[in-house]
Amino acid sequence: MADSVFHKDFKAMPWWWEWWHPTNALSQDPPRKTEVLVIGAGYGGLSTALELARSGVEVTVLERGAFGVGASTRNGGGVSGGTTLGKGFSGKGAGGDPEGWKRVMARMLADAADSLAQVETVIRREGIECHWRMTGRFSGAFTPRHYAEQAARVGTYNEGAALGTYMVPRERQREEIASDYYYGGMVVERTGQLHPALYYGGLLAAAQRAGARLCAECDAERIERRTGGFRVLTSKGAIEAREVVVATNGYTTDLTPTLRRRLVPVASHIIATEELPEDLVRSLIPKYRVVSDTKRVLCYYRQSPDSKRVIFGGRARFTQVSPEVSAPVLHRYMVERWPQLAGTKVTHAWTGNVAFAFDYLPHMGTAKEGREQGVHYLMACNGSGVAMMSYLGYQTARKIVGGSNAPANAFDERDFPTVPFYSGNPWFLPLIGAWYRTRDWWDRTRAG
Ligand SMILES: Cc1cc2nc3c(=O)[nH]c(=O)nc-3n(C[C@H](O)[C@H](O)[C@H](O)COP(=O)(O)OP(=O)(O)OC[C@H]3O[C@@H](n4cnc5c(N)ncnc54)[C@H](O)[C@@H]3O)c2cc1C
Repeated sequence: MADSVFHKDFKAMPWWWEWWHPTNALSQDPPRKTEVLVIGAGYGGLSTALELARSGVEVTVLERGAFGVGASTRNGGGVSGGTTLGKGFSGKGAGGDPEGWKRVMARMLADAADSLAQVETVIRREGIECHWRMTGRFSGAFTPRHYAEQAARVGTYNEGAALGTYMVPRERQREEIASDYYYGGMVVERTGQLHPALYYGGLLAAAQRAGARLCAECDAERIERRTGGFRVLTSKGAIEAREVVVATNGYTTDLTPTLRRRLVPVASHIIATEELPEDLVRSLIPKYRVVSDTKRVLCYYRQSPDSKRVIFGGRARFTQVSPEVSAPVLHRYMVERWPQLAGTKVTHAWTGNVAFAFDYLPHMGTAKEGREQGVHYLMACNGSGVAMMSYLGYQTARKIVGGSNAPANAFDERDFPTVPFYSGNPWFLPLIGAWYRTRDWWDRTRAG
């Protein structure tokens, strides 16, 4: 390969897949009838199915590709319990009632903290070997102003969710990261990390053990409402179901057009480096934290679970592009933070879709309009869904089992906004990407 960042054995696939590869192994034929039909077999769909099956509910999961083709085996494996909600706390939700909005935010933070506990519970209960560790996160401040904004949020995080958050000034930054790139940053002790594909494989096996029927290569093509339930037309025939759950997140299509209008699918990209000396890798992030930053064009990175590589992700582009485009950009971002990695080669590069909501908050609920009226949904991970989508899946299942319409948590049945003339095709993303890059450049230039 011509570009020098690529290792001679480069593969355009998630490095995680060297450990667990998407598979049809547990797939069964779809039934003609099921109590609950879950569409989409990512963390969200599988967590829903696992909890339903454990509660004795007959449940079937459809996945249009092999199990594990979606974002759930492609992510960075950072598991956060609430701080990534920050952007949704812009105050837009206050609607003239700031005190009420503060209470809502506190409930959201508490529920997000529960999502972390929920992941931990399932990993332990199901014996999922996925290198789960509660190692904390360091969020580097890109400018002094960002540092001040982070410092202003510490109290909220600690009061709302006991996240163990504190500031690290620039003079002490090297305790967190072997780099002078940031203006200090914020540590959040109560966040973790895991191997995303091994966690996925464990959830898949657990759902099957619990009795869920899992159907790969089965595309849900149309949802029709029927008396007492739904009929879903799939690439393998029609299925009748009392309840339908849509868990398609960044891969949502016109199967559910009114939900699609509420989501902006954004690509995220990751590289894995070649194997490096273990003491070098450990020295880069001495406390083994997940690192992210406050740039608009955000980067997130960590050591591989075996501490032999760097896994470095970010929005090299906001749309799907080939690794030939994304890997050199991410490599450059990595070297900006760690000049000591200038000669390091990339062995793997990949991409996947996350889904943003217009209010930057996760959502679950029941669709109110269109042909999907009455289906349950859980979506809008806003780039951070390992814990949140697992939690919303669990919560959706509990809601179905309980048969209640009352909101199950702070993300349930909230207004799920869209904007006029948006149908789900984010043609504007390259423009936003360019604008964000310019703003980042300007902020940094002003910071000196
Ligand atoms: C590169 C990248 C890095 C990320 N890093 C992090 C991170 O470090 N920490 C974090 O918390 N989050 C991260 N995320 C986000 C996280 O991966 C997602 O929030 C999470 O995996 C979403 O799970 P899900 O089940 O909702 O969706 P997915 O895992 O995307 O699953 C949805 C599934 O639905 C299927 N589907 C769609 N339509 C149909 C249909 N009609 N019929 C049948 N099946 C259908 C798709 O094929 C897909 O498999 C990252 C995401 C990406 C892409």
